[in-house]
Amino acid sequence: MADITIAEFEKEALTFLEANAERRVAEKAFVWGEGADTFYRERDRDAEFTQAQEAKVWRNKKFKAGFGWITGPKKYGGRELPAAYDRLYSQLEVQFRIADQSCFGIGLGMVAPTILAHATPAALDLYIKQMWSAEIIGCQLFSEPGAGSDLASLTTKAVKDGDEWIITGQKVWTSGAHYSDIGEIICRTDWDMPKHKGLTGFIVDMKAPGVDIRPLKQMTGGASFNEIFFNEVRVRDDHRLGDINNGWNVALTTLMNERASIGGGNAGDSNLLTRVIAMVKHYGLDTDPLIRVQLADIIMNYRIAAMNAQRTAASAKAGKLPGPEGSVGKMVLVNNQARLVKFVSHVLGPKLIADSGEWGTYAWSNFVLGAPGLRIAGGSDEVMRNIVGERVLGLPKDMGIDSVSPFKDIKVSGAKS
Ligand SMILES: Cc1cc2nc3c(=O)[nH]c(=O)nc-3n(C[C@H](O)[C@H](O)[C@H](O)COP(=O)(O)OP(=O)(O)OC[C@H]3O[C@@H](n4cnc5c(N)ncnc54)[C@H](O)[C@@H]3O)c2cc1C
Repeated sequence: MADITIAEFEKEALTFLEANAERRVAEKAFVWGEGADTFYRERDRDAEFTQAQEAKVWRNKKFKAGFGWITGPKKYGGRELPAAYDRLYSQLEVQFRIADQSCFGIGLGMVAPTILAHATPAALDLYIKQMWSAEIIGCQLFSEPGAGSDLASLTTKAVKDGDEWIITGQKVWTSGAHYSDIGEIICRTDWDMPKHKGLTGFIVDMKAPGVDIRPLKQMTGGASFNEIFFNEVRVRDDHRLGDINNGWNVALTTLMNERASIGGGNAGDSNLLTRVIAMVKHYGLDTDPLIRVQLADIIMNYRIAAMNAQRTAASAKAGKLPGPEGSVGKMVLVNNQARLVKFVSHVLGPKLIADSGEWGTYAWSNFVLGAPGLRIAGGSDEVMRNIVGERVLGLPKDMGIDSVSPFKDIKVSGAKS
């Protein structure tokens, strides 16, 4: 039973927001050629650091006021209120201008739930409150040069040394590692077991001696992810996540939350459609029958995605764990982006590639170049189809993965025990 009514909570939240943030003024209807001509612009690393600092300030303030972890345990600074209070707060907060909070997506959306489910009491006490109060940010250290879709092929090793583990190996595509304080890492701890069985999860200090973080430049111009070398990095045994050699289940907790957060509540940005419709009208293409058919197809598919997102949200509201509907949502989202990118590229042609200075044209280039990444991040299209095939349609399991032989006997590039 909640110790505050939802009406009292709303009043308290509004008082906090009014005192600490500026209310958004109603946005003017979009008019082609008016306003800032930038959207989806990739930030450089300096801007990402600044944004992370600003985001921390806001989240810390709201945590102290009792709105940082509304559903979380009181022991860690939460309020143990039902999810409805959390949803209400989110609805209120979007009415105010606050710092972009995207730097917490991986840490709070994926790593923190895994820590809560699998960490030792010592690590929980050390990290969970700090994560929710934004003193620290977390990242996900799963992918390696030889292990992405088939994550269980990973070869970064952890070797026990007294009360510590020594981690050596390489991770790659780690989003936000450069502004993160801790990472959830999955390592190989037993080479004689089948690939999914000899893995163990840990929490690693991203600033520990031996952690070497290097930026990876993307075709968008940004460098939001990294390759990371672990050179005999020491981690205390009480920073282990779950039992030794049970890291696959730890990873699954994170991956289920990842798919739900990418594909779940996110049906795509409806402002994009407004912009694209205005563009079509601007070029006098709104009477072209072929363009109209393509545009109708895009709009219809965005509507379907919104309905799927509602279904996922309803499932979460009913207390269900994230399931394969997250994979469906992710597939729908990336397919819609692909349709949109193809359409915009067709309409704009060379204006998309060379900045002619014409309003509303070159501004699409970052979005177009960034879209393919989403087809891969959080599980590629093919992997999502495998999940839906196996778990929703009941098709036989993917045959390509050897889950029986000892890992040391499976030929994996770069594997060494
Ligand atoms: C924007 C972005 C952010 C990312 N952030 C992170 C992060 O923070 N942390 C992290 O650990 N990783 C991160 N990743 C990495 C991501 O998880 C991997 O890129 C992804 O799992 C795919 O692995 P891979 O790149 O090794 O490709 P591979 O697994 O080598 O796949 C290559 C191709 O083979 C196909 N394929 C593979 N297996 C199968 C199969 N069984 N059936 C059919 N087709 C198959 C794939 O679909 C793909 O087309 C990020 C990636 C991107 C693009």
